[in-house]
Amino acid sequence: MVRMDESLAAWLDAHADSLDADTLHADALPARLARAGLFTAAVPEGEGGDGRALSAAVDVVAGLAEHSLGAAFVYWAQRAVIACLLASPNRDLVRRLVPDLVHGRLAGAPGLSNAMKFLGGLDRLRITGTAAPDGMRLNGTVAWATNLSRQGFLAAIAVGGEHGDNPAVFALPHDARGVMREPDLDLLALRGTNTAALRLDEVVLDASWQIHPQARVFLPSIRPVFVGLQCGLGLGLARASLRAARAALDLLTLRLRMVDIAAAAVALELQALGGRALLRAESGGYARRAREAAFLAVVTPTVAHLKGDLARLA
Ligand SMILES: Cc1cc2nc3c(=O)[nH]c(=O)nc-3n(C[C@H](O)[C@H](O)[C@H](O)COP(=O)(O)OP(=O)(O)OC[C@H]3O[C@@H](n4cnc5c(N)ncnc54)[C@H](O)[C@@H]3O)c2cc1C
Repeated sequence: MVRMDESLAAWLDAHADSLDADTLHADALPARLARAGLFTAAVPEGEGGDGRALSAAVDVVAGLAEHSLGAAFVYWAQRAVIACLLASPNRDLVRRLVPDLVHGRLAGAPGLSNAMKFLGGLDRLRITGTAAPDGMRLNGTVAWATNLSRQGFLAAIAVGGEHGDNPAVFALPHDARGVMREPDLDLLALRGTNTAALRLDEVVLDASWQIHPQARVFLPSIRPVFVGLQCGLGLGLARASLRAARAALDLLTLRLRMVDIAAAAVALELQALGGRALLRAESGGYARRAREAAFLAVVTPTVAHLKGDLARLA
């Protein structure tokens, strides 16, 4: 498990509700993640990373998800685009883009779920490309993409022929003519993740933007990285929930101990007083305390109720 940078952890805890409910900190978030050096995790040293195994990046996702799933998902989005580029045979493109992505100077937005669904036979490709003298002419939509920073982004997209044939994977720069970022989707959660749709209207990209010529080869090869990193999302969320449940469990245990200690103290008082404890005039308040201790055991949640809850939680 990686140790989360303390100032980042504090920032996430302070802003987790906002990252879930509004867009106030959407653009600050990637910068905070980059400042903590997190995008270098599991990137080869030759590409500016820390050279560790992919599990290090899964740990980062899980660590973030313990504080905010929105933050973890934005990290996933950036890291997924970095993974696409690292697997690209287009070395010029890698050299041109990876340093900015790894240092968080450029936001990466993976717009590939449509293509993943297409390869699984669940959808048709939503972006078509036709050959043009100056490259490929793209039209269509990306229904969902996260980390579409308003300060600029690079989206990874799949582009098919007219009938979805021979799809290829491209890097789409935000400032290419004809790229339109829609307003943020009106989400119920994770609203601070810069998640929106893209529209492509006669966008021309030349071959220098091609990540891979064959999506059918490339996407299955990248899928284990996407899915592996996603495992961190649930791991982190589960850890946070278990920690909270454990804390509540401790509290229930304390509450039970409180009843036990009070009852034991009253029993000790009885032993110390002996027969006097039963004489009205001489019990010195013992009788009242014995009745009060009885109340502690039955006030809701009663001892029986607490023991039932603890048995269920255990
Ligand atoms: C907050 C958020 C952020 C997101 N960020 C990104 C992102 O960065 N990049 C990205 O690419 N996507 C992103 N997505 C999209 C996400 O990855 C899924 O693709 C999307 O949520 C699936 O919904 P849909 O409306 O496309 O599903 P639909 O295609 O409408 O399908 C609905 C359900 O039916 C199932 N289904 C569909 N067809 C079939 C079939 N033929 N047989 C059996 N089951 C079927 C689907 O698996 C799904 O469970 C994001 C979504 C959300 C909510």
